[in-house]
Amino acid sequence: TTRVGVLALQGDFREHIAVLRGLGADAVPVRRPAELDEIDGLVIPGGESSVMDKLSRAFGLAEPLRRAIAGGLPVYGTCAGLIMLADRILDGIAGQESLGGLDVSVRRNAFGSQVDSFETDLDIPAVGDEPMHAVFIRAPIVESVGPAATPLARVADGRVVAVEQGDLLGTSFHPEITGDTRFHEYFLGKVRAAALRAA
Ligand code: GLN
Repeated sequence: TTRVGVLALQGDFREHIAVLRGLGADAVPVRRPAELDEIDGLVIPGGESSVMDKLSRAFGLAEPLRRAIAGGLPVYGTCAGLIMLADRILDGIAGQESLGGLDVSVRRNAFGSQVDSFETDLDIPAVGDEPMHAVFIRAPIVESVGPAATPLARVADGRVVAVEQGDLLGTSFHPEITGDTRFHEYFLGKVRAAALRAA
């Protein structure tokens, strides 16, 4: 079976593990570099990207993660996880680093303090015809998309909130908490295809 790691340093990794297990995947928490060798894909959860950045460096995971991403590991980041995957953070805290991989610039907490969190329905043709109910919690937006990445979804004003680049996926919102598993299924499809290619 396909084994999917969920980066379990901080944030809502338990929710991702539950969704992935519900879809039949062998989902495991990842906290140590050696665990990266045992997985076919990785989810980086929502949480707080500056804290996740500090912890990943303190645990010696940041460089192994960068190497794994560069080596083609499929990775799906939600919210803070999208920030971790972005090549450019426009408003990180001092010294904040991302892992990179997605050719995008993100802005954290981009929907402003009055609109901390909101929900809306998004059209995401890549995952199906039915609109997806999306929950945004102090969410980042993708302010610009470079040539290597493709936008998958936009909010009503046109701002990009989901992107794809090869086997990397990122969403500003949190499909792990709404019961709509289509993004996780889409990601598992990438993970299984990549595992077959590698076998
Ligand atoms: N605002 C958080 C950050 O900058 C992300 C919030 C979330 O993951 N729900 O990391």
